[in-house]
Amino acid sequence: MRLLITRPLPDAVQERAAAAFQCEFRTDQTPLERGELIRALEEFDVVLPTLGDRFCSEIFAAAQQVRCKLLANFGVGYNHIDVGAARNAGVAVTNTPGAVTDATADIAMTLILMSARRAGEGERMLRAGKWAGWNPTQLLGTHVTGRTVGIVGLGRIGQAIARRCHYGFGMNVRYVSRSPKTVGFPAQRVDSLTELARAVDILVVAVPGSAETHHLIDADVLAAMRPQAHLVNIARGDVVDEAALIQALRSDGIAGAGLDVYEFEPQVPEALIEMQNVVLLPHLGTAALDVRTAMGNMALDNVAALAAGKPLPNSV
Ligand code: NAP
Repeated sequence: MRLLITRPLPDAVQERAAAAFQCEFRTDQTPLERGELIRALEEFDVVLPTLGDRFCSEIFAAAQQVRCKLLANFGVGYNHIDVGAARNAGVAVTNTPGAVTDATADIAMTLILMSARRAGEGERMLRAGKWAGWNPTQLLGTHVTGRTVGIVGLGRIGQAIARRCHYGFGMNVRYVSRSPKTVGFPAQRVDSLTELARAVDILVVAVPGSAETHHLIDADVLAAMRPQAHLVNIARGDVVDEAALIQALRSDGIAGAGLDVYEFEPQVPEALIEMQNVVLLPHLGTAALDVRTAMGNMALDNVAALAAGKPLPNSV
C-alpha cells in the first residue's frame, strides 16, 4: 500500500508508518500545491493530509484516475477537504477526534486567562523594560473566577472547555449547539447566538469550520457582546468575521480577544498585531508531542483498518 504523508510528523508516527506501509514522507512544512494534490490522488492508495491541504472538488475533478481510497486526515478539523467530492470519487475520509480535545481546551483556557488578565500586554511591557514596579492600579484586567462563559458549539472540545470553566473557575456555563447536550454539571442552553453573546463575559468559539459556520461570529454577534467581554476563538479562523472583529475592538465594543486561528492563516492582520488587548497564538491548539503522536497513531489506525479490510474507526 502506497502512503503519502504530507508533512513531517513525530518520529514515532513516521517509524510506525514506515514499518507498515510503502511511504513517501514529504519534508515541506507548507500545504500541498495544486499539482501535488492531484498527484496525491493519482499515485497513492492512501494520503495522510493535514491543515491547509485543500482537497476541494476541483482537485478531485482534475485527477485523471483516482487511485486513492482514503484521506486519513491528521486533525479533527477537516474543512480543507470536500468530503462530498471525495465520496463521489470513491475516497473515504477519516479524522482524529478525541486525541485533540484536552490539549485544545487547555489552549482555550490559556487564551481566556491571557486575554482577561492582560498577560500578553504585561509580558510585552516587562520585556520592553517598561515595568517600573508593582502598583495598585496597573494593568487591571477582568477577574475570570465566577464569571459567565458562553460556548459556541458544545461538542467534544466545547464540553472540555466548559468542564474546566465550571470545575476549575466556578464559572456559569451557557452554550449554543445544534442539539441539546447532557453534561454532568450545570450548563444552560441558550436559544440564539446573539442572546448568548449578550449574556456572557467570555464567548468561546468551538464549532467546526464549514460553509454553515463561516462568519457565524459576525458584526451583529459582536455588537451584542458587552463592552467588558472577551472573545476567544480556538476553532477555525473563518468562523469569525475578522474585519468585524477588528472594528469591534477598535470601537471598544468588546474588551479583548484571544485567538489561536485566523481567517486567512497564516496571515494575521496588522491591525490585530498592533492592538495590546488581543492575544495572538500561532495555532497552538494541539501542539504537544504526545498529542501530535496520538493524532498520528489515530490516523494510522484508520490506514491499517483500510489495509485489513476492516471498518474505518473514524469515518467522517
Ligand atoms: P465536535 O465534537 O464535532 O463539536 C462541534 C460542535 O459544534 C458540536 O456540538 C456541534 O453541534 C456544534 N456545531 C456544529 N455546527 C454548528 C452550528 N452551525 N451552530 C452551532 N453549533 C454547531 O468537534 P470538536 O472535536 O469539539 O472540534 C471542534 C473544532 O475545533 C474542529 O472542527 C476544529 O476545526 C477545531 N480545532 C481546533 C484546534 C486548534 O488547534 N486550534 C484543535 C482541534 C480542533 P452538534 O453536536 O449538535 O452537531
